[in-house]
Amino acid sequence: MSEPATLDLSIVVPIYNEVDNVDPLIEQLTAALGPTGRSYEIICVDDGSNDGSWKKLEAAQAADPHVVAVQFRRNYGQTAAFSAGFDMSRGEWSITIDADLQNDPADIPKLLAKAEEGFDIVSGWRVKRKDAMIMRKLPSKAANWLIRKVTGVGLHDYGCSLKVYHRDVVKNIRLYGELHRFVPAVANSVGIRWAEMEVNHRARVAGESKYAGFTKTIKRATKVFLDLLTVRFLVSYATRPIHIFGVLGLGAFAVGTGLGVYLTILKIFFGANLSERPLLMLAVLLVILGVQFITFGLLGELVIRTYHESQQKPIYNIRKILAEADDTGDGDDDTGPVSSREKRAS
Ligand code: UDP
Ligand code: MG
Repeated sequence: MSEPATLDLSIVVPIYNEVDNVDPLIEQLTAALGPTGRSYEIICVDDGSNDGSWKKLEAAQAADPHVVAVQFRRNYGQTAAFSAGFDMSRGEWSITIDADLQNDPADIPKLLAKAEEGFDIVSGWRVKRKDAMIMRKLPSKAANWLIRKVTGVGLHDYGCSLKVYHRDVVKNIRLYGELHRFVPAVANSVGIRWAEMEVNHRARVAGESKYAGFTKTIKRATKVFLDLLTVRFLVSYATRPIHIFGVLGLGAFAVGTGLGVYLTILKIFFGANLSERPLLMLAVLLVILGVQFITFGLLGELVIRTYHESQQKPIYNIRKILAEADDTGDGDDDTGPVSSREKRAS
């Protein structure tokens, strides 16, 4: 469980070789955030830049106490940068945005207003995306379609970095791999409310895209696909792996056994010569596979128990508890699996 927020907003910016974007970024963020009257911090995570971005961040931090500058020892990737920002965020809301100014800081107040209507995540949707068609927009459209189908969460633009997250979300969801784009899907599985809003998108003026080019696109697509598989598995079966492996295992075992019985009958009653039957191989293969799948399922069940019990992590997620204050307690005010939001006045 996380500590309560001490600020209104935490802006989280991943920065990898964006030397010419740092100053205009801070400037535009300040222009957008100042008038909202909220307390805020701008957490800039330098993801191992080697172009002088860090010098710019040092100077920005010295000039403006809103800036929190974090430097990674090496390049860990955008997801890790978001994750670091979330871990240290002090705000009630965390707002992620790219450093390259393709997202428009001026959109922040409207996304925030939407979130405050009662959503835990508000995601930007780059309706008029200013990127190359073939290499960027088409793959992204295909990926968004696939993610929508597989996760059942109907966002149009998973890849858009400009998103607003409630503290409950950023403090309770772990990010791995390229998982940052799946936060809404993971969050949805624990009953978090999300919304989407059209946002402005601009062409990159300074610096280079870190993901452009054929090989990078293929690499990224592969990672995203594997992550999607993981997310699908986590969302649907993480607490009951035997249900998927067991079904596969029983199926394979039953078909294998059926084939085996059939072949045995042929052999015993009709004197068939089984050494020339590829079907025999299939039967043996399926029986072995079946046993293995069931074993995976059982191992999975063991892993899940270790996972949940070692972290005292419940298999459910509570939004609110309403109850009369109990002062007769033994001084232990640990409310268990309740996140920070339940403690807010509602
Ligand atoms: N980024 C990062 N680490 C990386 C790659 C990118 O922190 O390893 C940052 C980058 O500085 C930018 C954001 O992630 O702020 C998005 O990167 P980019 O603009 O290159 O992606 P694109 O807009 O082309 O998808
Ligand atoms: Mg960009």
